[in-house]
Amino acid sequence: MILIRAKRAYTSTIPERTLSRLAYTAPAMKHTRIACLLSLVSFYSAAVLAQNSFSVGTATAAAGQKATGTLEVPAGVDAAASIPVAVVRGNKPGPVLALVSGAHGTEYASIIALEKVIQTLDPAQVSGTVVILPLVNIASFEQKVPHVNPIDGKSMNRFYPGKQDGTQTERVSYAITKQVVERCDYLVDYHGGDIDENLRPYSYWPKSGDAKHDAITRDMVLAFGLDHVIVWSDRPKDPAASRYLDNTANTRGKPAIAVEAGYSGTVQTDDVAMLVNGTLSLMRYLKMLPGAPTMVERPVWLGKVDTVASDQPGIFYPLVQRGTYVETGMKIGYVTDYFGKTIYEAHAPAAGVVLYICGVPSMKKGDTVANIGEITTNP
Ligand SMILES: [Zn+2]
Repeated sequence: MILIRAKRAYTSTIPERTLSRLAYTAPAMKHTRIACLLSLVSFYSAAVLAQNSFSVGTATAAAGQKATGTLEVPAGVDAAASIPVAVVRGNKPGPVLALVSGAHGTEYASIIALEKVIQTLDPAQVSGTVVILPLVNIASFEQKVPHVNPIDGKSMNRFYPGKQDGTQTERVSYAITKQVVERCDYLVDYHGGDIDENLRPYSYWPKSGDAKHDAITRDMVLAFGLDHVIVWSDRPKDPAASRYLDNTANTRGKPAIAVEAGYSGTVQTDDVAMLVNGTLSLMRYLKMLPGAPTMVERPVWLGKVDTVASDQPGIFYPLVQRGTYVETGMKIGYVTDYFGKTIYEAHAPAAGVVLYICGVPSMKKGDTVANIGEITTNP
């Protein structure tokens, strides 16, 4: 709905402008020819601009331009949302690449990375168009609330493809599906360890079973360059129930990956650099930037992820770091009551790498203690 409105608003400006110029110049007979000529030139350049420009929300970039604006999601059962969007329109033709971060507004490194990408990209160097949404969940960011959108208590990466008449998370998801996913050719969704997640960087390869599509997404994760890759093959296949953003794109035939770097509320230079450089390398793979991509030659493929959850509330003490390689049965942390008595011990259910471990002492029953990735070969 928003997409249609934005398009109408844009195209209608051309005849209106031309008509008003004609009306203004009509009484001055001796200037009519020049006025008509000027109007034609104006009409022609506006038409060329319309042809070559790309709009998302209020951001309209002509060829060779970078534009910023907002994706306006009207109020419904709860408040309206205004999501920042940047469009970088290259001088040369090429695909449309969508980059989205901040669905979880306190996964800071991923948000700062896309802020940097907006500043870094030079439209004169780009072939095609890059649509960047650096911060989807503004309320989470501003209020420092992890995991969910505090407006409706929902995760902003679980309700795709969204609902036009749902709560804010669902309406935002719907707008992104219509205005970004359906209009892009490729997509990257950026995440990281949230405030309570001590996470090592990794990406997801969504293996769908479609050999042609999988070959592209496999190359995309290798070009992005994170050296640990989770093979995620049991994702929803139904486009109407895609849940995740990358899955929403993949189920609509647009190759998409998800990447994660950053942890525990920090913005580390290495994490940000990894995400920025990964984006530029991926753009080289897609031939949207000159030069060759840097592909990971031998990534650590992770075929299965085991979640260890606490069966007790209390105070959590980790015994391993993010990225530690653990053996089956290894004690990775424990929980005490509020007097220091151990009431729960966490053990690795399988050998693998600690993708993330709880980074704060707060623990309630059922919370994730750690995610452990089991290594696989030749996925
Ligand atoms: Zn996230």
